[in-house]
Amino acid sequence: MKLTVLTDNNTYIDRYYLGEPALSILIEADGTNVLFDTGYSDVFIKNAEALGIKLAQTDYIVFSHGHDDHTKGLMYLEKADIHKAQIVAHPKCFDKKYVGDLYVGSPFDRQYIEHSFCTALSDKPLELCTNLWYLGEIPRVFDYENGSVGETETDGVRSPDCLYDDTALVYKSKKGLFIITGCSHSGICNITEYAKQVCGEDRIYGIIGGFHLFEDDKKLAETVKYFTDNKIEMLYPCHCVSLTAKHRMMEKLNVQEVGVSLVLEIE
Ligand SMILES: [Zn+2]
Ligand SMILES: [Zn+2]
Repeated sequence: MKLTVLTDNNTYIDRYYLGEPALSILIEADGTNVLFDTGYSDVFIKNAEALGIKLAQTDYIVFSHGHDDHTKGLMYLEKADIHKAQIVAHPKCFDKKYVGDLYVGSPFDRQYIEHSFCTALSDKPLELCTNLWYLGEIPRVFDYENGSVGETETDGVRSPDCLYDDTALVYKSKKGLFIITGCSHSGICNITEYAKQVCGEDRIYGIIGGFHLFEDDKKLAETVKYFTDNKIEMLYPCHCVSLTAKHRMMEKLNVQEVGVSLVLEIE
């Protein structure tokens, strides 16, 4: 499995790609190309072009969840000649989402998505290709990961958004599971536990993505303990992980920097 970071908040010195506070990662596995999130703009397309990557060959576009820093790039797919890709997401991914009066959801609703694209909207796990899984809805098992972000709107009624659409990908490598996550609103420990269950594998080789950890609080302490207890070999926190959170992880774990153009090859 080869993974390339196309969009992230961070860029590296002397590598002239574009950054934005968003996420997009390309995964190539078993002859299948999977675009995981599309960021907030066409930055993922510009960076892919600069990296010599042909996004036209994308087989699946998987959305981690509906927030616009992961879905708004959908508006620019024509520019990348992406026509044959199937969209894979949770059925609630394209519901309206707000933080106060600010709209933070997908640029397109479910009806438009199903009309315009080949889609597989699923709250159940799907094996996209050999050893690469889309997890679907993540069971919430750890109390410290409960919470909501803004509001979601169903039939004109707003309620706190617990992000049941939040999901992740997992690759079953020879050394254990490698998890690719967006913002982990469903909880990175909940995601990891479910990945183990779905793949029938307890070893966690690595995790890349946003963990939605900012404060030096109980949730962070419990998460670091969980990562340590699970002997996770490599952590690639990015996008929505504060410096404080990275610092706490680095005290106990092997934490690597993430930025646009990072390539990981995992057997
Ligand atoms: Zn989010
Ligand atoms: Zn995000």
